[in-house]
Amino acid sequence: MKCDAVIVGAGIVGLACALKLNLAHPKKKIIVLEKEDRAAQHQTGNNSGVIHSGIYYKPGSLKAKNCIEGYNQLLHFCRSYDVPFDICGKIILASSHDELPRLHALFQRGQQNGLSGIRLLSSGEIKEIEPFAEGVAGIFVPQTGIVDYKRVAEKFTELLLKRGVEIWYNVRVAALRTMPDCVEAVTNGEVLTASVAVNCAGLHSDRVARNSFPNLDVRIIPFRGEYYKLKPHSEKLVRGLIYPVPDPAFPFLGVHFTKQIDGGVEAGPNAVLAYKREGYRKRDISLRDMWETVSWHGFQKVARRYWKVGVEEMIRSYSKKQFVHSLQKLVPSIKESDLEAGGAGVRAQACSRSGELLDDFFFLEDKHVVHVCNAPSPAATSSLSIGETIAQRAALHFS
Ligand SMILES: Cc1cc2nc3c(=O)[nH]c(=O)nc-3n(C[C@H](O)[C@H](O)[C@H](O)COP(=O)(O)OP(=O)(O)OC[C@H]3O[C@@H](n4cnc5c(N)ncnc54)[C@H](O)[C@@H]3O)c2cc1C
Repeated sequence: MKCDAVIVGAGIVGLACALKLNLAHPKKKIIVLEKEDRAAQHQTGNNSGVIHSGIYYKPGSLKAKNCIEGYNQLLHFCRSYDVPFDICGKIILASSHDELPRLHALFQRGQQNGLSGIRLLSSGEIKEIEPFAEGVAGIFVPQTGIVDYKRVAEKFTELLLKRGVEIWYNVRVAALRTMPDCVEAVTNGEVLTASVAVNCAGLHSDRVARNSFPNLDVRIIPFRGEYYKLKPHSEKLVRGLIYPVPDPAFPFLGVHFTKQIDGGVEAGPNAVLAYKREGYRKRDISLRDMWETVSWHGFQKVARRYWKVGVEEMIRSYSKKQFVHSLQKLVPSIKESDLEAGGAGVRAQACSRSGELLDDFFFLEDKHVVHVCNAPSPAATSSLSIGETIAQRAALHFS
């Protein structure tokens, strides 16, 4: 079987990339290969549903650039195709005076990233926006919104099929083999030959990339994010989105409250080491996945440096009381009885051999393959911009 481009993974990044490639090259035969029986079954379908503004990211980084560009493209897409979204804004709260320098640094970063209308809040002003929240100071970010990314991905899928792009479900790519003038996608069925392949395999992207780069310098470490939901009678405690000041040592934002586009409020996610790459329950274990994590030199370094935080996360994962304690820093009146168990998602977080949790998006190119090796949050917000960048790189291989 021959085609022009093969895309591995029907998550939001793979689908956006297919769409951008098709829009720029409508005559090229593009096939998306997905191991599940539907699109968006992993990170894309199990995230917080936040349209991020770009406040957090280092100016000039790929995250900053793609988040802001992706934000604009996403809103335009949702308006054009009637995907419901709500730009409800969010607040970031400093719960103690120690957090003020980090809050102010974040505010400056937002200004550097060109976010207009963000403003510092006094504790009184916080109450005007969120009557049950408390903090010594805060930031209001008017650009932040909410959407259901599964619905966005469904719309991408619908459009792709209409435009003649094929999506093959239940097809797992075992390897991408580069040949002198093409690439072969070896699957559980047939072998596809293409001018270019794009690896958007999310939690498995490093495994797919290792065929091209046997000494690949990053490995995906899975971090599960568990949620609680506010019981209907407690939803009044939260009007919109309430976040803590994040710890800059970690690429996660800290447990927060998120209003959902279809109603309800989620609390979370935490960030606990998962024993399985697609392990959504605490009891999910894969010996292969665990071994790949613990045997990675980079992970061992991270574990030595942050073991205390890791143990605390583990305790908070098993103890609702501890989870609620973290939430009480934002909304002191919240109680265990206000929360019921919610879902979970697993983040694909790349970790370098030298022991860094990669903060920025990371792409790698081989002869006929573009690998998306790190696309954590805000990759859903940024998907159309990331998709465009990758599609441009991939299209260079058509000639
Ligand atoms: C808990 C959580 C909360 C988040 N919150 C937000 C948020 O609020 N806002 C935001 O912008 N981002 C958020 N993110 C990040 C965002 O969801 C991800 O960055 C984004 O979904 C990544 O998309 P993807 O297509 O790269 O990966 P995925 O959605 O994981 O898709 C990868 C696809 O590849 C397929 N695949 C894997 N291996 C193979 C193979 N060998 N052959 C064929 N198919 C394969 C998988 O089945 C999957 O469908 C969150 C993530 C998590 C986990």
